[in-house]
Amino acid sequence: MKTIFEKSNGNDGINLTDSVADITFLPKEILRQDKLGLPQLSELEVMRHYKKLSDMNFCIEKGFYPLGSCTMKYNPKVNELLANLDGFNIHPNTEDDDAQGCLELMYNLQNVLLEITGMDAVTLQPSAGAHGEMTGMMIIKKYFETIGQNRTKVIIPDSAHGTNPASAKMAGFDVVEIKSNDKGQIDIEALKQVLNSDVAAIMMTNPNTLGIFEEKVLEISELMHKNGSLLYYDGANFNAIMGYTNPKLMGFDVVHLNLHKTFSTPHGGGGPGAGVVAVTDKLKDILPVPIIKFNGKKYYREYNLQNSIGNVKDFFGNFSVLVRAYAYILMMGKNLKHVSENAVLNANYLKEKLKKYYNLPYDEPCMHEFVITGEKQKEENGVSTLHIAKALMDGNTHPPTVYFPLIVHEALMIEPTESENKERLDEFVQTMIQIAEECKSDPQKVLSSPHTTPVKKIDEVTAARHPDLNFKE
Ligand SMILES: *Cc1c(COP(=O)(O)O)cnc(C)c1O
Repeated sequence: MKTIFEKSNGNDGINLTDSVADITFLPKEILRQDKLGLPQLSELEVMRHYKKLSDMNFCIEKGFYPLGSCTMKYNPKVNELLANLDGFNIHPNTEDDDAQGCLELMYNLQNVLLEITGMDAVTLQPSAGAHGEMTGMMIIKKYFETIGQNRTKVIIPDSAHGTNPASAKMAGFDVVEIKSNDKGQIDIEALKQVLNSDVAAIMMTNPNTLGIFEEKVLEISELMHKNGSLLYYDGANFNAIMGYTNPKLMGFDVVHLNLHKTFSTPHGGGGPGAGVVAVTDKLKDILPVPIIKFNGKKYYREYNLQNSIGNVKDFFGNFSVLVRAYAYILMMGKNLKHVSENAVLNANYLKEKLKKYYNLPYDEPCMHEFVITGEKQKEENGVSTLHIAKALMDGNTHPPTVYFPLIVHEALMIEPTESENKERLDEFVQTMIQIAEECKSDPQKVLSSPHTTPVKKIDEVTAARHPDLNFKE
């Protein structure tokens, strides 16, 4: 397909000359002399071009999207309607007095998030999960500074999301990795061995990235706190536990949530997100500013926190994501609990159906996601997980997350979310069974997939070494 520049045929869609602002006051030397090299196409042709491009993309509206750890649930369209209401179209520099409705929404969102997490104070400012992690790590760093302790290390299990060690490092900590045990959980003995007065915190994900609940979490939090250390909870995927338990009950001091995953904002491709961070009482003065407060009459942004780490993002954060999350939470109400139930049920259903055909490294009840592997197919038929993932694309399915977590060879990490019904899950099972069978009967077909997508097999080495950023036919 040609780019929009190559398609340009000199047919202006609209005539801008009538609406051009008066620019006679601008000095001559800064005015453009040549014609601006914009493509010229009729409005209809432009629409067709972009529609065609968007049709080439895969999205949740097109089919099943079980991308583990990414929670690609259905994002209700009413969220978009609400986020686009005139009153929420707020200018970054709006004064508090003129932003009462927006601040009220933020204030209420803070409160419901505190109820969901069990924590005592929260910031809505960070703009992504990784940003929330770094904010949380900076809070922990500052906490130890304020109590006069020099703690330099953060413990992270080997199953953690890659952003965890990156965030700890960026906040100035050294990362100590600990191995998981044969149940896919933190090995308490390994933890005890690295615990000393240098340790500031442990970063945990629970359920962890294998989709397994850390049964020893209370023992771990007791150990950490006895050691004077803190516990950080990566709550990017909160889908498994909402309404059943919370990080506070598990003994955590800091938690971040990805509003754009659990609370339904379309994400991926680096789009806007919100990685809110909630903390317990003893850390609340260290949160970044502003915090939204209410004095009985007026909502306002509080900048005056005693030990605040300062600004992590300007203005109102990613405000439209906050609107979507608040809309979703209000819409679900107490039914948020059923989100968790169905997310967990769907994952266990798929796991049980698929384990006859694919290796299941940890045969335990799972939470909202689980990990199977393509090891059997690789050994017996020479077809690796990468090829299985590509073959799924021919079945109108987005591939699961592959080769993560790193501790599982040939991993396929599957997260169906609560949005899907049984018929859709059964279809996915059938597709996976068919691929497993084709690995035996016609491995060449799987190896050469995908066959039906707009872009076929990609030469990944060339793509990485010589990226061609203009898409051409
Ligand atoms: C997605 C994810 C993150 C990072 O979130 P971003 O918004 O992509 O920065 C961190 N931890 C876990 C477990 C995740 O799934």
